[in-house]
Amino acid sequence: SENIFKKIISHAKEYGFVFPSSEIYDGLQAVYDYGQYGVELKNNLKTLWWKSMTQLNDNVVGIDAAIFMNPLTWKASGHVDGFNDPMIDNKDSKKRYRADNLIEDKADEYEQAGDVKKAKDLRAKMNQLLGANDLKGVYNLIVEENIKCPLSGTANWTDVRQFNLMFSTKVGSVAEEADTIYLRPETAQGIFVNFLNVQKTGRMKIPFGIAQIGKAFRNEIVAKQFIFRMREFEQMEMQFFIRPGEEMKWYEQWKETRFRWHQAIGLPAEKLKYHKHEKLAHYANAAVDIEFEFPFGFKEIEGIHSRTDFDLTEHQKLSKKKMQYFDNDLNENGKPYGNYVPYVVETSVGADRLFLATLCNAYTEETVGEGDQQKERIYLKLHPALAPIKAAIFPLVRKDGLAEKAQMIFNLLKYDFNVIYEDRDAIGKRYTRQDLIGTPFCIAVDYETMENDTVTIRYRDTMAQERVKIDELSQKIGNEVSF
Ligand code: ATP
Repeated sequence: SENIFKKIISHAKEYGFVFPSSEIYDGLQAVYDYGQYGVELKNNLKTLWWKSMTQLNDNVVGIDAAIFMNPLTWKASGHVDGFNDPMIDNKDSKKRYRADNLIEDKADEYEQAGDVKKAKDLRAKMNQLLGANDLKGVYNLIVEENIKCPLSGTANWTDVRQFNLMFSTKVGSVAEEADTIYLRPETAQGIFVNFLNVQKTGRMKIPFGIAQIGKAFRNEIVAKQFIFRMREFEQMEMQFFIRPGEEMKWYEQWKETRFRWHQAIGLPAEKLKYHKHEKLAHYANAAVDIEFEFPFGFKEIEGIHSRTDFDLTEHQKLSKKKMQYFDNDLNENGKPYGNYVPYVVETSVGADRLFLATLCNAYTEETVGEGDQQKERIYLKLHPALAPIKAAIFPLVRKDGLAEKAQMIFNLLKYDFNVIYEDRDAIGKRYTRQDLIGTPFCIAVDYETMENDTVTIRYRDTMAQERVKIDELSQKIGNEVSF
Protein backbone atom coordinates (compact mmCIF):
# COMPACT_ATOMS: atom_id res chain seq x y z
CA SER A 1 0.00 0.00 0.00
CA GLU A 2 3.00 2.32 0.54
CA ASN A 3 3.77 1.42 -3.02
CA ILE A 4 0.31 2.50 -4.15
CA PHE A 5 0.76 5.78 -2.32
CA LYS A 6 4.01 6.43 -4.19
CA LYS A 7 2.17 5.79 -7.43
CA ILE A 8 -0.59 8.21 -6.45
CA ILE A 9 1.94 10.94 -5.64
CA SER A 10 3.67 10.58 -8.99
CA HIS A 11 0.32 10.37 -10.75
CA ALA A 12 -0.70 13.66 -9.11
CA LYS A 13 2.45 15.31 -10.39
CA GLU A 14 2.56 13.74 -13.83
CA TYR A 15 -1.02 14.60 -14.70
CA GLY A 16 -1.20 18.17 -13.44
CA PHE A 17 -2.86 17.78 -10.04
CA VAL A 18 -0.16 18.67 -7.48
CA PHE A 19 3.38 19.99 -7.94
CA PRO A 20 6.03 20.62 -5.29
CA SER A 21 6.19 24.37 -4.63
CA SER A 22 8.97 26.27 -6.45
CA GLU A 23 10.17 22.97 -7.83
CA ILE A 24 12.89 24.47 -10.07
CA TYR A 25 14.70 25.39 -6.85
CA ASP A 26 14.18 21.88 -5.46
CA GLY A 27 10.95 22.87 -3.77
CA LEU A 28 10.12 23.93 -0.26
CA GLN A 29 9.40 21.22 2.25
CA ALA A 30 5.72 20.59 2.99
CA VAL A 31 4.51 23.25 0.57
CA TYR A 32 2.72 22.33 -2.65
CA ASP A 33 1.04 23.94 -5.65
CA TYR A 34 -2.13 22.73 -7.32
CA GLY A 35 -1.92 22.30 -11.07
CA GLN A 36 -4.49 22.76 -13.80
CA TYR A 37 -6.58 19.70 -12.90
CA GLY A 38 -5.85 19.79 -9.18
CA VAL A 39 -7.27 23.26 -8.77
CA GLU A 40 -10.50 22.19 -10.48
CA LEU A 41 -10.91 19.16 -8.25
CA LYS A 42 -10.13 21.21 -5.15
CA ASN A 43 -12.53 23.96 -6.18
CA ASN A 44 -15.25 21.38 -6.77
CA LEU A 45 -14.75 20.02 -3.25
CA LYS A 46 -14.78 23.50 -1.75
CA THR A 47 -17.91 24.51 -3.65
CA LEU A 48 -19.69 21.36 -2.53
CA TRP A 49 -18.77 22.00 1.09
CA TRP A 50 -19.73 25.67 0.83
CA LYS A 51 -23.10 24.89 -0.70
CA SER A 52 -23.95 22.12 1.70
CA MET A 53 -23.12 24.39 4.63
CA THR A 54 -24.58 27.73 3.57
CA GLN A 55 -27.21 26.82 1.01
CA LEU A 56 -28.69 23.70 2.55
CA ASN A 57 -28.75 25.09 6.10
CA ASP A 58 -30.84 28.23 6.32
CA ASN A 59 -29.16 29.12 9.62
CA VAL A 60 -25.57 28.94 8.37
CA VAL A 61 -23.93 31.88 6.59
CA GLY A 62 -20.38 32.36 5.31
CA ILE A 63 -17.63 34.91 5.80
CA ASP A 64 -14.12 35.45 4.47
CA ALA A 65 -11.88 36.89 7.18
CA ALA A 66 -8.31 38.10 6.72
CA ILE A 67 -5.31 35.89 7.34
CA PHE A 68 -3.64 38.55 9.48
CA MET A 69 -5.33 39.44 12.72
CA ASN A 70 -4.57 41.58 15.72
CA PRO A 71 -1.95 39.59 17.68
CA LEU A 72 -4.12 39.68 20.80
CA THR A 73 -6.38 37.23 18.97
CA TRP A 74 -3.72 34.57 19.39
CA LYS A 75 -3.23 35.39 23.01
CA ALA A 76 -6.93 34.86 23.63
CA SER A 77 -7.03 31.61 21.65
CA GLY A 78 -4.09 30.19 23.58
CA HIS A 79 -1.86 29.89 20.53
CA VAL A 80 0.78 32.27 21.86
CA ASP A 81 1.26 30.75 25.29
CA GLY A 82 -0.26 27.38 25.65
CA PHE A 83 -0.49 25.85 22.25
CA ASN A 84 2.94 24.42 21.83
CA ASP A 85 4.01 21.02 20.70
CA PRO A 86 6.55 19.03 22.71
CA MET A 87 9.46 18.33 20.39
CA ILE A 88 12.51 16.12 20.76
CA ASP A 89 15.58 15.75 18.55
CA ASN A 90 17.59 12.64 17.92
CA LYS A 91 21.26 13.58 18.18
CA ASP A 92 22.40 11.02 15.64
CA SER A 93 19.93 11.49 12.82
CA LYS A 94 19.39 15.18 13.64
CA LYS A 95 15.72 14.47 13.04
CA ARG A 96 13.09 16.27 15.09
CA TYR A 97 9.96 14.49 16.30
CA ARG A 98 6.86 15.30 18.22
CA ALA A 99 7.45 13.58 21.53
CA ASP A 100 3.79 12.62 21.87
CA ASN A 101 3.81 11.00 18.43
CA LEU A 102 6.80 8.85 19.34
CA ILE A 103 5.03 7.65 22.47
CA GLU A 104 1.81 7.15 20.57
CA ASP A 105 3.66 4.96 18.02
CA LYS A 106 5.06 2.89 20.87
CA ALA A 107 1.55 2.45 22.27
CA ASP A 108 0.39 1.33 18.81
CA GLU A 109 3.21 -1.18 18.79
CA TYR A 110 2.04 -2.65 22.11
CA GLU A 111 -1.49 -2.77 20.80
CA GLN A 112 -0.49 -4.58 17.62
CA ALA A 113 1.47 -7.07 19.72
CA GLY A 114 -1.79 -7.75 21.59
CA ASP A 115 -0.85 -5.93 24.80
CA VAL A 116 -3.86 -3.63 24.98
CA LYS A 117 -3.44 -2.85 28.66
CA LYS A 118 0.17 -1.75 28.27
CA ALA A 119 -0.85 0.49 25.37
CA LYS A 120 -3.64 2.02 27.39
CA ASP A 121 -1.45 2.65 30.42
CA LEU A 122 1.23 4.27 28.31
CA ARG A 123 -1.27 6.60 26.68
CA ALA A 124 -2.78 7.51 30.03
CA LYS A 125 0.64 8.29 31.47
CA MET A 126 1.56 10.41 28.46
CA ASN A 127 -1.70 12.36 28.61
CA GLN A 128 -1.24 13.03 32.28
CA LEU A 129 2.30 14.36 31.71
CA LEU A 130 1.23 16.49 28.77
CA GLY A 131 -1.71 17.82 30.73
CA ALA A 132 0.65 18.89 33.52
CA ASN A 133 3.07 20.27 30.92
CA ASP A 134 5.76 18.08 32.49
CA LEU A 135 8.36 18.03 29.71
CA LYS A 136 11.00 16.37 31.85
CA GLY A 137 8.48 13.62 32.60
CA VAL A 138 7.77 13.17 28.89
CA TYR A 139 11.51 12.84 28.27
CA ASN A 140 11.83 10.27 31.06
CA LEU A 141 8.98 8.28 29.62
CA ILE A 142 10.71 8.13 26.23
CA VAL A 143 13.89 6.91 27.92
CA GLU A 144 12.06 4.38 30.12
CA GLU A 145 10.25 2.96 27.12
CA ASN A 146 13.55 2.81 25.25
CA ILE A 147 12.00 4.51 22.25
CA LYS A 148 14.41 4.70 19.34
CA CYS A 149 14.65 7.09 16.43
CA PRO A 150 13.00 5.42 13.43
CA LEU A 151 15.80 6.78 11.23
CA SER A 152 19.03 6.27 13.18
CA GLY A 153 17.76 3.46 15.38
CA THR A 154 19.38 5.03 18.45
CA ALA A 155 17.89 6.41 21.67
CA ASN A 156 20.28 9.37 21.85
CA TRP A 157 17.76 12.12 22.55
CA THR A 158 17.86 15.81 23.45
CA ASP A 159 15.54 17.25 26.08
CA VAL A 160 11.90 17.75 25.19
CA ARG A 161 11.17 21.37 24.27
CA GLN A 162 8.09 23.34 23.39
CA PHE A 163 7.78 24.53 19.85
CA ASN A 164 5.35 27.16 18.65
CA LEU A 165 3.58 26.27 15.45
CA MET A 166 2.80 29.83 14.40
CA PHE A 167 4.66 31.63 11.63
CA SER A 168 5.39 35.24 12.44
CA THR A 169 6.21 38.27 10.38
CA LYS A 170 6.54 42.00 10.94
CA VAL A 171 4.09 44.78 10.20
CA GLY A 172 5.37 48.15 9.06
CA SER A 173 8.71 49.05 7.58
CA VAL A 174 11.69 47.23 9.01
CA ALA A 175 13.40 50.50 9.95
CA GLU A 176 10.55 51.56 12.16
CA GLU A 177 9.69 49.74 15.29
CA ALA A 178 7.94 46.77 13.84
CA ASP A 179 5.28 44.69 15.48
CA THR A 180 5.16 40.95 15.27
CA ILE A 181 2.06 39.51 13.71
CA TYR A 182 1.19 35.93 12.90
CA LEU A 183 -0.15 34.01 9.97
CA ARG A 184 -3.32 32.43 11.28
CA PRO A 185 -2.85 28.79 12.35
CA GLU A 186 -6.62 28.16 12.10
CA THR A 187 -9.48 29.98 10.43
CA ALA A 188 -11.78 29.64 13.46
CA GLN A 189 -10.66 32.83 15.21
CA GLY A 190 -11.74 34.99 12.26
CA ILE A 191 -15.22 33.64 12.89
CA PHE A 192 -15.18 34.15 16.67
CA VAL A 193 -14.13 37.80 16.46
CA ASN A 194 -16.87 38.42 13.89
CA PHE A 195 -19.55 36.54 15.75
CA LEU A 196 -21.52 39.64 16.80
CA ASN A 197 -21.01 41.46 13.48
CA VAL A 198 -22.65 38.60 11.66
CA GLN A 199 -25.28 37.95 14.30
CA LYS A 200 -26.44 41.56 14.32
CA THR A 201 -26.20 42.44 10.63
CA GLY A 202 -27.66 39.10 9.57
CA ARG A 203 -30.28 39.13 12.36
CA MET A 204 -29.23 35.60 13.19
CA LYS A 205 -31.00 33.68 15.91
CA ILE A 206 -29.30 31.00 17.96
CA PRO A 207 -28.69 28.26 16.93
CA PHE A 208 -26.79 29.50 13.89
CA GLY A 209 -23.49 28.85 12.18
CA ILE A 210 -20.75 30.76 10.39
CA ALA A 211 -18.75 28.97 7.71
CA GLN A 212 -15.43 29.89 6.20
CA ILE A 213 -12.90 28.50 3.74
CA GLY A 214 -9.38 29.83 3.90
CA LYS A 215 -5.66 29.34 4.22
CA ALA A 216 -4.06 28.44 7.54
CA PHE A 217 -0.36 28.14 8.34
CA ARG A 218 1.43 25.88 10.76
CA ASN A 219 5.13 25.39 11.13
CA GLU A 220 4.67 21.63 11.29
CA ILE A 221 7.81 19.87 12.44
CA VAL A 222 7.08 16.52 11.04
CA ALA A 223 5.88 17.37 7.61
CA LYS A 224 5.43 14.25 5.58
CA GLN A 225 3.02 12.17 3.57
CA PHE A 226 2.67 14.58 0.68
CA ILE A 227 -0.23 17.02 1.07
CA PHE A 228 -1.51 15.27 4.20
CA ARG A 229 0.51 17.58 6.44
CA MET A 230 1.52 20.89 4.94
CA ARG A 231 2.84 24.16 6.31
CA GLU A 232 0.38 26.16 4.21
CA PHE A 233 -3.00 24.53 3.84
CA GLU A 234 -6.66 25.27 3.54
CA GLN A 235 -9.39 24.72 6.09
CA MET A 236 -13.14 24.56 5.71
CA GLU A 237 -14.56 25.38 9.10
CA MET A 238 -18.00 26.01 10.52
CA GLN A 239 -18.64 27.32 14.01
CA PHE A 240 -22.14 26.64 15.25
CA PHE A 241 -23.31 28.94 18.06
CA ILE A 242 -25.72 27.40 20.54
CA ARG A 243 -27.25 27.68 23.99
CA PRO A 244 -25.02 26.56 26.86
CA GLY A 245 -26.03 23.08 27.92
CA GLU A 246 -27.18 22.04 24.46
CA GLU A 247 -23.70 21.27 23.19
CA MET A 248 -23.90 17.48 23.34
CA LYS A 249 -27.05 17.42 21.23
CA TRP A 250 -25.47 19.56 18.51
CA TYR A 251 -22.14 17.79 18.78
CA GLU A 252 -23.86 14.47 18.09
CA GLN A 253 -25.86 15.95 15.26
CA TRP A 254 -22.92 17.54 13.44
CA LYS A 255 -20.83 14.46 14.01
CA GLU A 256 -23.38 12.42 12.09
CA THR A 257 -24.10 15.03 9.45
CA ARG A 258 -20.44 15.39 8.60
CA PHE A 259 -19.90 11.63 8.46
CA ARG A 260 -22.77 11.28 6.02
CA TRP A 261 -21.44 14.17 3.94
CA HIS A 262 -18.17 12.38 3.28
CA GLN A 263 -20.11 9.37 2.12
CA ALA A 264 -22.32 11.53 -0.05
CA ILE A 265 -19.33 12.92 -1.92
CA GLY A 266 -18.11 9.43 -2.67
CA LEU A 267 -15.89 8.22 0.17
CA PRO A 268 -17.07 4.67 0.95
CA ALA A 269 -18.41 3.96 4.45
CA GLU A 270 -15.91 1.17 5.05
CA LYS A 271 -13.04 3.61 4.56
CA LEU A 272 -14.41 6.06 7.12
CA LYS A 273 -14.48 5.83 10.88
CA TYR A 274 -14.74 7.94 14.00
CA HIS A 275 -11.85 8.36 16.38
CA LYS A 276 -12.88 9.77 19.71
CA HIS A 277 -10.32 11.95 21.49
CA GLU A 278 -9.30 10.85 24.94
CA LYS A 279 -6.88 13.73 25.29
CA LEU A 280 -8.83 16.97 24.88
CA ALA A 281 -7.45 20.35 23.85
CA HIS A 282 -7.74 23.04 26.50
CA TYR A 283 -10.80 24.57 24.81
CA ALA A 284 -12.86 21.44 24.24
CA ASN A 285 -15.22 19.26 26.28
CA ALA A 286 -15.75 16.68 23.56
CA ALA A 287 -13.91 15.96 20.33
CA VAL A 288 -14.01 13.36 17.61
CA ASP A 289 -12.14 12.94 14.35
CA ILE A 290 -13.51 11.51 11.16
CA GLU A 291 -10.77 9.33 9.77
CA PHE A 292 -10.28 8.07 6.25
CA GLU A 293 -8.33 4.98 5.32
CA PHE A 294 -5.39 6.34 3.35
CA PRO A 295 -2.88 3.89 1.87
CA PHE A 296 -0.79 4.67 4.99
CA GLY A 297 -3.63 3.89 7.40
CA PHE A 298 -6.69 5.48 8.98
CA LYS A 299 -5.94 9.18 9.53
CA GLU A 300 -7.90 12.30 10.44
CA ILE A 301 -9.57 14.30 7.71
CA GLU A 302 -12.03 16.27 9.84
CA GLY A 303 -12.42 17.24 13.48
CA ILE A 304 -15.70 17.91 15.27
CA HIS A 305 -15.12 19.77 18.50
CA SER A 306 -17.37 21.00 21.25
CA ARG A 307 -15.40 24.16 22.07
CA THR A 308 -17.67 25.34 24.92
CA ASP A 309 -17.63 29.13 25.42
CA PHE A 310 -13.85 29.10 25.76
CA ASP A 311 -12.94 31.27 22.75
CA LEU A 312 -15.70 33.84 23.09
CA THR A 313 -15.10 34.19 26.82
CA GLU A 314 -11.36 34.69 26.31
CA HIS A 315 -12.02 37.30 23.61
CA GLN A 316 -14.46 39.02 25.92
CA LYS A 317 -11.86 39.16 28.69
CA LEU A 318 -9.06 40.45 26.53
CA SER A 319 -10.99 42.87 24.31
CA LYS A 320 -13.32 44.02 27.07
CA LYS A 321 -16.12 43.83 24.50
CA LYS A 322 -19.24 41.86 25.34
CA MET A 323 -19.46 38.65 23.37
CA GLN A 324 -23.00 37.93 24.45
CA TYR A 325 -26.23 37.15 22.79
CA PHE A 326 -29.69 38.04 24.03
CA ASP A 327 -31.96 35.06 23.66
CA ASN A 328 -35.62 36.05 23.93
CA ASP A 329 -36.95 32.53 23.45
CA LEU A 330 -38.69 31.27 26.56
CA ASN A 331 -37.23 28.55 28.73
CA GLU A 332 -39.29 25.90 30.54
CA ASN A 333 -40.13 28.40 33.28
CA GLY A 334 -41.70 30.71 30.73
CA LYS A 335 -38.89 33.26 31.08
CA PRO A 336 -36.51 34.45 28.32
CA TYR A 337 -33.17 32.68 28.32
CA GLY A 338 -31.65 36.17 28.39
CA ASN A 339 -27.98 37.11 27.97
CA TYR A 340 -25.26 34.53 27.62
CA VAL A 341 -21.98 33.76 25.89
CA PRO A 342 -22.91 31.08 23.37
CA TYR A 343 -21.34 27.66 23.28
CA VAL A 344 -19.74 26.49 20.06
CA VAL A 345 -19.66 23.21 18.18
CA GLU A 346 -17.14 23.30 15.35
CA THR A 347 -16.64 21.20 12.26
CA SER A 348 -13.20 21.57 10.70
CA VAL A 349 -12.05 19.77 7.59
CA GLY A 350 -8.86 20.26 5.62
CA ALA A 351 -9.51 20.92 1.93
CA ASP A 352 -6.16 19.40 1.05
CA ARG A 353 -6.67 16.27 3.13
CA LEU A 354 -10.09 15.82 1.61
CA PHE A 355 -8.49 16.24 -1.80
CA LEU A 356 -5.93 13.57 -0.93
CA ALA A 357 -8.61 11.22 0.36
CA THR A 358 -10.63 11.75 -2.81
CA LEU A 359 -7.61 11.14 -5.01
CA CYS A 360 -6.56 7.99 -3.13
CA ASN A 361 -10.09 6.68 -3.30
CA ALA A 362 -10.40 7.41 -7.02
CA TYR A 363 -7.07 5.96 -8.13
CA THR A 364 -7.88 2.67 -9.85
CA GLU A 365 -5.67 0.12 -11.53
CA GLU A 366 -7.38 -2.63 -13.45
CA THR A 367 -6.61 -5.29 -15.97
CA VAL A 368 -8.73 -5.15 -19.09
CA GLY A 369 -9.01 -7.36 -22.16
CA GLU A 370 -8.25 -11.04 -22.48
CA GLY A 371 -5.36 -13.25 -23.49
CA ASP A 372 -2.77 -11.38 -25.57
CA GLN A 373 -4.97 -8.31 -25.48
CA GLN A 374 -4.71 -8.00 -21.69
CA LYS A 375 -3.38 -4.73 -20.42
CA GLU A 376 -3.26 -2.56 -17.34
CA ARG A 377 -5.49 0.45 -17.24
CA ILE A 378 -5.22 3.31 -14.75
CA TYR A 379 -8.02 5.77 -14.25
CA LEU A 380 -9.44 8.12 -11.63
CA LYS A 381 -12.87 6.96 -10.62
CA LEU A 382 -14.04 10.39 -9.52
CA HIS A 383 -17.69 11.22 -9.09
CA PRO A 384 -18.57 13.25 -12.22
CA ALA A 385 -19.46 16.21 -9.99
CA LEU A 386 -15.88 16.25 -8.70
CA ALA A 387 -14.06 15.50 -11.96
CA PRO A 388 -11.87 18.42 -13.12
CA ILE A 389 -13.02 18.03 -16.74
CA LYS A 390 -16.59 16.87 -17.32
CA ALA A 391 -16.28 15.93 -20.98
CA ALA A 392 -13.62 15.82 -23.69
CA ILE A 393 -14.65 16.31 -27.32
CA PHE A 394 -12.67 14.47 -29.97
CA PRO A 395 -12.99 14.61 -33.75
CA LEU A 396 -11.99 11.19 -35.11
CA VAL A 397 -9.89 13.00 -37.72
CA ARG A 398 -9.23 16.66 -38.37
CA LYS A 399 -10.32 16.70 -42.01
CA ASP A 400 -13.69 16.66 -43.79
CA GLY A 401 -15.28 19.13 -41.39
CA LEU A 402 -15.04 16.83 -38.33
CA ALA A 403 -12.78 19.23 -36.43
CA GLU A 404 -15.21 22.12 -37.02
CA LYS A 405 -18.15 19.99 -35.95
CA ALA A 406 -16.36 18.99 -32.74
CA GLN A 407 -15.48 22.64 -32.08
CA MET A 408 -19.13 23.49 -32.50
CA ILE A 409 -20.07 20.92 -29.83
CA PHE A 410 -17.33 22.23 -27.56
CA ASN A 411 -18.76 25.75 -27.89
CA LEU A 412 -22.22 24.45 -27.20
CA LEU A 413 -21.21 22.82 -23.91
CA LYS A 414 -18.51 25.15 -22.56
CA TYR A 415 -20.90 27.65 -20.97
CA ASP A 416 -22.33 25.00 -18.65
CA PHE A 417 -19.47 22.55 -18.17
CA ASN A 418 -15.72 22.51 -17.95
CA VAL A 419 -15.02 20.70 -21.25
CA ILE A 420 -11.98 20.36 -23.47
CA TYR A 421 -11.38 19.85 -27.15
CA GLU A 422 -8.57 17.57 -28.29
CA ASP A 423 -7.62 16.50 -31.81
CA ARG A 424 -4.04 15.27 -31.48
CA ASP A 425 -2.96 11.60 -31.37
CA ALA A 426 -4.94 8.45 -32.04
CA ILE A 427 -8.33 8.37 -30.39
CA GLY A 428 -7.39 5.46 -28.09
CA LYS A 429 -4.55 7.53 -26.69
CA ARG A 430 -6.88 10.45 -26.14
CA TYR A 431 -9.28 8.22 -24.18
CA THR A 432 -6.42 6.96 -22.03
CA ARG A 433 -5.32 10.49 -21.23
CA GLN A 434 -8.80 11.46 -20.08
CA ASP A 435 -9.04 8.29 -17.95
CA LEU A 436 -5.88 9.36 -16.16
CA ILE A 437 -7.37 12.70 -15.14
CA GLY A 438 -10.79 11.24 -14.37
CA THR A 439 -12.91 12.72 -17.17
CA PRO A 440 -16.19 10.80 -17.00
CA PHE A 441 -17.32 11.31 -20.62
CA CYS A 442 -15.54 11.42 -23.95
CA ILE A 443 -17.51 12.57 -26.95
CA ALA A 444 -16.31 11.38 -30.34
CA VAL A 445 -17.28 13.05 -33.61
CA ASP A 446 -17.07 10.72 -36.60
CA TYR A 447 -18.38 10.50 -40.15
CA GLU A 448 -21.80 9.41 -38.96
CA THR A 449 -22.04 12.66 -37.00
CA MET A 450 -21.85 14.56 -40.26
CA GLU A 451 -24.85 12.62 -41.56
CA ASN A 452 -27.24 12.44 -38.63
CA ASP A 453 -25.98 14.75 -35.84
CA THR A 454 -25.23 11.95 -33.41
CA VAL A 455 -21.98 11.34 -31.51
CA THR A 456 -20.64 8.52 -29.38
CA ILE A 457 -20.26 8.98 -25.68
CA ARG A 458 -17.60 6.77 -24.16
CA TYR A 459 -17.92 6.20 -20.42
CA ARG A 460 -14.76 6.25 -18.33
CA ASP A 461 -15.58 3.49 -15.84
CA THR A 462 -17.11 0.90 -18.14
CA MET A 463 -15.45 2.05 -21.38
CA ALA A 464 -18.86 1.37 -22.94
CA GLN A 465 -19.90 3.52 -25.87
CA GLU A 466 -23.30 4.85 -26.70
CA ARG A 467 -24.65 6.78 -29.65
CA VAL A 468 -26.60 9.93 -28.70
CA LYS A 469 -28.00 12.98 -30.42
CA ILE A 470 -26.00 16.20 -30.12
CA ASP A 471 -29.17 17.89 -28.88
CA GLU A 472 -29.30 15.55 -25.90
CA LEU A 473 -25.69 15.94 -24.78
CA SER A 474 -26.18 18.88 -22.49
CA GLN A 475 -28.99 17.30 -20.54
CA LYS A 476 -27.27 13.93 -20.38
CA ILE A 477 -24.07 15.40 -18.95
CA GLY A 478 -26.02 17.75 -16.69
CA ASN A 479 -27.85 14.82 -15.11
CA GLU A 480 -24.62 13.07 -14.22
CA VAL A 481 -22.45 15.91 -12.93
CA SER A 482 -24.60 16.88 -9.99
CA PHE A 483 -25.28 15.04 -6.75
P1 ATP B 1 -3.31 16.68 13.14
O1 ATP B 1 -3.57 15.98 14.43
O2 ATP B 1 -3.31 15.79 11.94
O3 ATP B 1 -2.15 17.64 13.18
P2 ATP B 1 -5.16 18.61 14.04
O4 ATP B 1 -5.95 17.80 14.99
O5 ATP B 1 -4.11 19.52 14.51
O6 ATP B 1 -4.55 17.65 12.91
P3 ATP B 1 -7.19 20.50 13.56
O7 ATP B 1 -6.50 21.58 14.24
O8 ATP B 1 -8.37 19.84 14.20
O9 ATP B 1 -6.14 19.39 13.11
O10 ATP B 1 -7.57 21.00 12.09
C1 ATP B 1 -8.72 20.55 11.41
C2 ATP B 1 -8.39 19.94 10.07
O11 ATP B 1 -7.44 20.74 9.35
C3 ATP B 1 -7.74 18.58 10.16
O12 ATP B 1 -8.72 17.59 10.28
C4 ATP B 1 -7.02 18.49 8.84
O13 ATP B 1 -7.91 18.04 7.81
C5 ATP B 1 -6.63 19.91 8.55
N1 ATP B 1 -5.21 20.13 8.86
C6 ATP B 1 -4.68 20.42 10.07
N2 ATP B 1 -3.35 20.56 9.97
C7 ATP B 1 -3.03 20.36 8.66
C8 ATP B 1 -1.81 20.38 7.92
N3 ATP B 1 -0.65 20.66 8.49
N4 ATP B 1 -1.86 20.13 6.59
C9 ATP B 1 -3.04 19.86 5.98
N5 ATP B 1 -4.21 19.84 6.63
C10 ATP B 1 -4.22 20.07 7.95
